[in-house]
Amino acid sequence: MRTKVAIIGSGPSGLLLGQLLTNAGIDNVILDRVSKDYILGRVRAGVLEEGMAGMLDRAGAGARMHKEGLPHDGFSLAFDGRDHRIDLFGLTGKRVTVYGQTELTHDLMDRREAMSGLSIYEAANVTPHNFEGGKPYVTYEKDGVTHRIDCDFIAGCDGYHGVSRKSVPESALQTFERIYPFGWLGILAEVPPVSHELIYANHPRGFALCSMRSETRSRYYIQCALDEKTENWPDDRFYDELRRRLPAEHAERMVTGPSFEKSIAPLRSFVAEPMRFGRLFLVGDAAHIVPPTGAKGLNLAASDVYYLFEGLQEFYGEKSAAGIDAYSARALKRVWRAVRFSWSMTTMMHRFPDTGEFGQKIQEAELDYLVSSKAASTALAENYVGLPY
Ligand SMILES: Cc1cc2nc3c(=O)[nH]c(=O)nc-3n(C[C@H](O)[C@H](O)[C@H](O)COP(=O)(O)OP(=O)(O)OC[C@H]3O[C@@H](n4cnc5c(N)ncnc54)[C@H](O)[C@@H]3O)c2cc1C
Repeated sequence: MRTKVAIIGSGPSGLLLGQLLTNAGIDNVILDRVSKDYILGRVRAGVLEEGMAGMLDRAGAGARMHKEGLPHDGFSLAFDGRDHRIDLFGLTGKRVTVYGQTELTHDLMDRREAMSGLSIYEAANVTPHNFEGGKPYVTYEKDGVTHRIDCDFIAGCDGYHGVSRKSVPESALQTFERIYPFGWLGILAEVPPVSHELIYANHPRGFALCSMRSETRSRYYIQCALDEKTENWPDDRFYDELRRRLPAEHAERMVTGPSFEKSIAPLRSFVAEPMRFGRLFLVGDAAHIVPPTGAKGLNLAASDVYYLFEGLQEFYGEKSAAGIDAYSARALKRVWRAVRFSWSMTTMMHRFPDTGEFGQKIQEAELDYLVSSKAASTALAENYVGLPY
């Protein structure tokens, strides 16, 4: 088989890139090692920057997001028993949309199917070859048979654990990493959210986040030890701990109900540089991971796709390699800004092993400054709604 762009990974990065290319008449094939249903069963991000929402529109897959997504004009920072609203729209003229990654993935898959785009699921041993030379190709196994796809370019959209980054010689790659000494224990429950906007809480017992997927479905998190087990956290214990970390007005109002998903996610910052190796490009989580505190992971995948798509469109339309040559530097510039923001939110909101009473007071003083200074609130809001592409 031959295509122009072979895309490894059918997550948000791969699907978005595939759809933009298809819309532009640039032939592409998407390969994923797991099934479509497995991908649709993954519960992950849910806060979309305007840039991401615009990319979904550009892909022709934004209709349901506009209908069912929840536009949010602000969020709350809770600390020292009080609650302070950050007026995103008032400070920046921009808002975010709460719409689950699962839904967005569904919409992109539906769009791809409607346009007869080729996706090969349950493809084993997907391997990129010869990307340093001029004639790259990808091999994979399906039903015991090995197949080969010749292509012009390979887009490695296969997440942190994927094969693309691992195929690059170690000597060509520089990596930067910070692993945080805690995780997030999260639940999904069919109960109305405690507030119609997100609440990020700093508390001496640890961080908490009240998020949501819809007006009837809540996504709640509490900071936990890395070696914590979900079986130690029956729903009642989880809600009790969450309430303790929230200002009384929210704790008293919280509606509880059985969770239908419960998991622990580790927190890490990771960047691999560069993001291009000959004719192989790394996109999204394949190149970088951020802790979810700033809601940036999914949104960074969208800006990478934007830069790469522009480059590929220029390559095929105008026969210019300028865009693809600039891809890595352009993407990394925005990536590092988001990595910094996610790190600073994580540092300010969580209890670290050495935080102690002094550290707690420093965090509260920083938060107090943030919510009382218009300049500081604006800087926070600007980063939260997403820096321009
Ligand atoms: C548990 C969890 C919670 C998260 N919560 C948030 C959040 O609240 N907010 C936020 O902004 N971000 C969050 N993120 C991050 C966000 O989900 C990611 O940034 C986003 O999914 C990145 O999209 P992607 O397409 O680059 O990678 P992925 O979504 O990881 O997609 C990669 C795809 O590649 C496929 N693949 C992997 N290896 C191979 C292979 N060898 N061959 C073929 N296919 C392969 C995978 O099956 C997958 O479908 C979370 C992530 C996780 C894991």
